[in-house]
Amino acid sequence: MEAVGSNDPLVSVRESGMRIVRLLFEGDCRYGLADETTVTLISDEPFSAWEPEGFLPLAEAHLLAPVSPTKVVCVGLNYRAHIAEMGHDTPTEPVIFIKPSTAVIGPNEPIVRPPGVGRMDYEAELGVVIGRRTHRATPEQAAANVLGFTCGNDVTARDLQKVDGQWSRAKGFDGFCPLGPWVATDVDPSDLLLECYVNGVVRQSSHTSDMLFAPFELVSFISQVMTLVPGDVVLTGTPGGIGPLEDGDSVEVRISEVGSLVNPVVATV
Ligand code: ZN
Repeated sequence: MEAVGSNDPLVSVRESGMRIVRLLFEGDCRYGLADETTVTLISDEPFSAWEPEGFLPLAEAHLLAPVSPTKVVCVGLNYRAHIAEMGHDTPTEPVIFIKPSTAVIGPNEPIVRPPGVGRMDYEAELGVVIGRRTHRATPEQAAANVLGFTCGNDVTARDLQKVDGQWSRAKGFDGFCPLGPWVATDVDPSDLLLECYVNGVVRQSSHTSDMLFAPFELVSFISQVMTLVPGDVVLTGTPGGIGPLEDGDSVEVRISEVGSLVNPVVATV
């Protein structure tokens, strides 16, 4: 692996242990670094060199999805209990698919049921956020190129998934990829508690250690196929316990050391 200097922006932001947020500020989309109470606005994207540029209270920040990915690459069937509940054989290689960038929404934004969609499921997932261009990387190189981790919800129109036999429609609707609330840096993803709550009741509870393919292996695998660029997100699969969302529900993806992503579910508009 190539040596990286302390003036590498990716390394310095990761080592800060800060949470990277994207927010609406005075009509502009801006990046910032958040601690428990305060957001420090930064002058550029967190992937490049930046300077601090003012502060605001975290409680007053209108948070957006923490990055604006060119693509969200997802992994199906990556937790043993979910493979069993879906009745699939254990894959020998990761099964990947793409959610379009237009599916991405941020924390507290509503998941709107598309017209004609019946069963609409939550899938709590750990999101890996890419910090540097990644092409045919080893798992070690992939790890060095990761900016951090976020919470993701791979919302799925389960009936359409079964009808179509492939997943672009079932998983590609606008709003079917909530991400946030921030990118947590300096996190070891190997054994995090991953949970999903619907209206405060736990529905999924697992550890990332139950993954078949670990996060950096997945990034490496995907990078053999397509170049990942800064801001791209890899969703690493969901554990057992998937189930439907009803209009009026509040769904929360909670990951230890990363954060909590809450979205209301609303009827077709
Ligand atoms: Zn999924």
